[in-house]
Amino acid sequence: MIPLDEALAHVLARCEPLVPGPVPALSAAGLVLAGDVVAAEAVPPFANTAMDGYAVRAADTAGAPVVLPVAGEVAAGHPADRPLAAGEAMRIFTGAPLPEGADAVVMVERTEPLDGGRSVRIEVAVEPGTHLRAAGEDLKPGERVFGAGDEVTPARLGVLASLGVAEVVAHPRPRVGVLSTGDELVTGPAPLQPGQIRDSNRPTLLALVAQAGFEPVDLGRVADDEPAIAGAIERGAATCDAVLSSGGVSMGDIDLVRVVLDRIGDMRWMQVAIRPAKPLAFGLVPGPAGRPVPVFGLPGNPVSSMVSFALFARAGLRRLAGHPDGRLHLPRYRAVAAEPLARRPDGKVHFVRVVATVTPAGGPGEQGDAGGPGGELRVRSSGGQGSHQLGAMARADGLAVLPDGDGVGAGEPVEVILLAEPPTAASPS
Ligand code: AMP
Ligand code: MG
Repeated sequence: MIPLDEALAHVLARCEPLVPGPVPALSAAGLVLAGDVVAAEAVPPFANTAMDGYAVRAADTAGAPVVLPVAGEVAAGHPADRPLAAGEAMRIFTGAPLPEGADAVVMVERTEPLDGGRSVRIEVAVEPGTHLRAAGEDLKPGERVFGAGDEVTPARLGVLASLGVAEVVAHPRPRVGVLSTGDELVTGPAPLQPGQIRDSNRPTLLALVAQAGFEPVDLGRVADDEPAIAGAIERGAATCDAVLSSGGVSMGDIDLVRVVLDRIGDMRWMQVAIRPAKPLAFGLVPGPAGRPVPVFGLPGNPVSSMVSFALFARAGLRRLAGHPDGRLHLPRYRAVAAEPLARRPDGKVHFVRVVATVTPAGGPGEQGDAGGPGGELRVRSSGGQGSHQLGAMARADGLAVLPDGDGVGAGEPVEVILLAEPPTAASPS
């Protein structure tokens, strides 16, 4: 057996970021940038008002209350057609450009229209700059806004749009082929024949690929048959940036995936010191123009294939997508075991499926359900921990990480990898 870190290092060293290229900025959501984005414009592009009210020269409000004639109106998208003269006010609405000559805005709540709107009483004296958003206050021309390794999040997409950026250079979204192997597997609702089971890994892995932001490609199910397995993997390598297969990699299995991959690829067969998901095959098979395509041979047991995806495949695929080293792995949080999570020493790290809850924050005295601080994660087993028991995986919000040893007792700290957003525990009554 090799330690988890060694297996991860082996995988990550062989997953090269996909070659970046130009992408229309508005199609870049979720992609990882491969170069700098520099602002060519100021944001906001002009000084404008943050409030509805009256544009004034601050000096004219010094003796407030004062009455000023209203010289016109400026709204968003409709600049003033003349400058504001000394001793005047202009009605102004949020987002409207500040008229030339004005240097402050008095919010409407501190004014009173007089004379049918022809003049206004200003009730407060304001300083220059009051309620103004200066040109370039958010972004300045020439400023480096984003850099290589930054993912285009919704907020960043908004920044690109507000700067008028038409195109960015980004890594492509990895296309990931998913294939199931096994004579026992069937798809569809037909009654099962003796010895058959339904293929659950393929839909699960395709959904995990999509959830992680990659493009899933269904390579189908193949029987335990050498030419069939070879055909599916070669088809995957020809059309995808990476291939995930499940099944056929356990020790003493009818190891056909193994036979095939050893023939067509440069593979390493690992026994990783973790439970579940001990067996992992990983290697490179030649794709178009000899480009190496990573292939992950994930274990067949449904929980194992999911854990293997979460630990290895997801990180490797994120590397293909261009994510930097600090952003490859699911983060580990510090939690508290709400009940004992027992295990026996066996030289492996155990990943225990757990239900997690967050104790309520911001309540009276910020007290959680056990009197702990608000926002604390508490975990308990989600049920049967067999690697075939997908039910407990389906109930789980995360994986508790139990280092080799006897586990943790109730109330003790434990690391947890979150797979879903945990619910907030009901407030104590
Ligand atoms: P294997 O790694 O092929 O020996 O499979 C290990 C276990 O996982 C066996 O019980 C298989 O029947 C089961 N298994 C393999 N592939 C799948 C799949 N796609 N869906 C559900 N169970 C599977
Ligand atoms: Mg099999």
